[in-house]
Amino acid sequence: MSTITSTFAQSDSSKIILVIHGGAGTILKKNMTPEKEKAYHDKLEEALLAGYNQLKSGKTSTEAVKAAINIMEDSPLFNAGKGAVYTNKETQEMDASIMRGSDKNAGAVAGVSTIKNPIDAAIAVMEKSEHVLLTGAGAEEFAASQGVEIVDTSYFRSDVRHKQLKRVQEKEKMVLDHDGDQGSVDSSEDEFNIDYIEDKKFGTVGAVALDNQGTIAAGTSTGGMTNKRYNRVGDSPIIGAGTYANDFAGISCTGHGEFFMRNVVAYDVCALMEYKGLTLEEATAEVIRKQTEIGGSGGLIGLDKNGNVAMPFNTAGMYRAYITENGTMFIGIYGQ
Ligand code: ASP
Repeated sequence: MSTITSTFAQSDSSKIILVIHGGAGTILKKNMTPEKEKAYHDKLEEALLAGYNQLKSGKTSTEAVKAAINIMEDSPLFNAGKGAVYTNKETQEMDASIMRGSDKNAGAVAGVSTIKNPIDAAIAVMEKSEHVLLTGAGAEEFAASQGVEIVDTSYFRSDVRHKQLKRVQEKEKMVLDHDGDQGSVDSSEDEFNIDYIEDKKFGTVGAVALDNQGTIAAGTSTGGMTNKRYNRVGDSPIIGAGTYANDFAGISCTGHGEFFMRNVVAYDVCALMEYKGLTLEEATAEVIRKQTEIGGSGGLIGLDKNGNVAMPFNTAGMYRAYITENGTMFIGIYGQ
């Protein structure tokens, strides 16, 4: 966790309009097969294009964030929606949040188990309620009343995730998605299992978009931590910690949630820009430095109003990607 990898970019001719992540962690090339690498690459590209098409057809940054995150929530590759990790009680409890920079409206849900795409419920909270954060059964009841898709909990069941839980429980630990110490790898298990076990990875997903009205929206969706107990909630649904957007920038985080809450990471980036006049690059570098200082591993993605992007992390890798106005894409997995 000592190395910090950063990607900052903006091409003069074409603004970056959408940036996404699929989690950070010990993502090492040596643990990847070409097939797995391609699966992640393709899914990130699909998510980018889904969001991009929304923006190109004149839709809002919120709609672009939803489209990109829905693709990743529907994939078992990431710890969100369909790929959510198991709690200690063998249930899945998901969290998500969204914030729109132009009016600082925000919505979030925590501890939901029957909402197919938790980011959709967060958007409904933002747009259709006077609240910011709803939890558990109440959040599910509200989401259903707004036409958000509800599924049976069996939709989220996964043998791979269940085995992951059992290994973690053998060690009596609570770990973040793909945290390294999950026991030995059984080679008879499916190809992604090796990835789940050996990669120390936080598989949360997130997206930040800038639309043609100049509005930034940021969203994050997660299954949280494997073997979590006591209705533990991390940073992802906490506005200011895991997600934040204002007129300066939008931020979505991934990593060890407790540390991201303690440093109020997403807001801290925007505050450094607003109050100290730091650039996105400077502000994100500073908060990742502060995260490293307190022992918080992870990363974040950020996009500012001029279409500059930052994707720093203090882990070995982070699934990350962006697309510019003219359709040029960057997709990255590993660090330095
Ligand atoms: N930040 C998430 C949490 O602590 C985990 C992740 O990023 O994968 O719940």
